[in-house]
Amino acid sequence: MTKPQIKSLLLDTRLPRLEVRMLLEHVLDKPRAWLLAHDTDALAPEAAAAYEALALRRIAGEPMAYLLGQREFMGHLFRVTPDVLIPRPDTEVLVETALECVAGVAGPAVLDLGTGSGAIAISIALARRDARVMASDVSAAALAVAAGNAWNLTASVRFVEGSWYEAVPAGEGFDLIVSNPPYVASDDPHLDQGDLRFEPRGALTDGAGGLEDLARIVQGAGSRLKPGGALWMEHGWDQAQAVRDMLAEAGFESVHSRQDLAGIERISGGRKRGG
Ligand code: GLN
Repeated sequence: MTKPQIKSLLLDTRLPRLEVRMLLEHVLDKPRAWLLAHDTDALAPEAAAAYEALALRRIAGEPMAYLLGQREFMGHLFRVTPDVLIPRPDTEVLVETALECVAGVAGPAVLDLGTGSGAIAISIALARRDARVMASDVSAAALAVAAGNAWNLTASVRFVEGSWYEAVPAGEGFDLIVSNPPYVASDDPHLDQGDLRFEPRGALTDGAGGLEDLARIVQGAGSRLKPGGALWMEHGWDQAQAVRDMLAEAGFESVHSRQDLAGIERISGGRKRGG
């Protein structure tokens, strides 16, 4: 039997063309240009089998990021496993806003709560080499992924294990606290659709109405922020007003929201009085 050519897989119609190419690039460990230039090369049976296994998992709904084991965020390649949420492009506005907040602070102390893959904390640490970045997560498995990413990307981040502020040593004062906490309501049907089905449920939903962890983060921020320090959180498409209200009630100033790439108010924040 003649071996199939690379071309025959590039024409796999069961998946979108981009996904076919990405899976083939991954299996053959070659860039796109190589694939297209070598499309009449014979495909080794092991490579064909590896491709088929990934294609079947993709057809069953597994996220591309888990199949490839990586996802780009803020121009950096992060390793991701099913122990962590897949970084979203929408979250880049949180990092950009965080960087603006500490633009005028030398050696800023930054805390990322519920760091997951470490995407937020590591992106901040790489953009601000002088920052002292601490990142927490309640999941030891997530922290292992995050620590691996910090190592691979040469970012200096201190990881601590525990729920929200419980992980943070007493006496630390921060110029900035950021978080992308679980904010999907536990009865949201989206949890049973698409990529979300495969992501850690505890990273997506607070097990209640979606605002509980956001409230916990707001309530604990005051005593951990330096005067004038900022808090910014990502939240759901319909939660901006509720989060702004929480911030205002907790005494934060300059409370406002910012939109994500789709024009939805996706993050809200404010500053602690003073400073
Ligand atoms: N933005 C994610 C989603 O709805 C949820 C992420 C989160 O809960 N922090 O797909």
